Amino acid sequence: MTSDDFNLTPPPPKMPSTQEEKDAWIKAQAERPGLITYKTPPPSARAATQRILAQRRLANMHRQKPPKPGTFNKCGDCEFFRRYHGGGRAYGKCTKYGVSHSESTDWGTTWPACGMFAPAPKEPSKWPRR
Ligand code: SF4
Repeated sequence: MTSDDFNLTPPPPKMPSTQEEKDAWIKAQAERPGLITYKTPPPSARAATQRILAQRRLANMHRQKPPKPGTFNKCGDCEFFRRYHGGGRAYGKCTKYGVSHSESTDWGTTWPACGMFAPAPKEPSKWPRR
């Protein structure tokens, strides 16, 4: 088994050189099917590439641990999901996939959960009810 066996999507084609070709490339990448759906097209070629890589990360998890049929959980509700803060924003990570300081391990709260999903325990509210 090679690492390619875990890639549901083929690698993105080489970035074209002219702006017109680049725009067409970004549009084509936005239309590639995947587990994650985005409401808006990627604003740049870099964002398009990041989306492809995100689709591939999640596809790898789903290939190794397919979700149970009929379940529609989100990664943000999973016990293995963590939020880290830095640079004025929050970063989601799946501890089962791996955690690093790189965006190559960033994870989305709304991504469809894999088969390892376990509901996160509810934390008691810090603010008492009045
Ligand atoms: S469901 Fe949990 S273990 Fe599976 S990918 Fe999402 S955060 Fe990771």
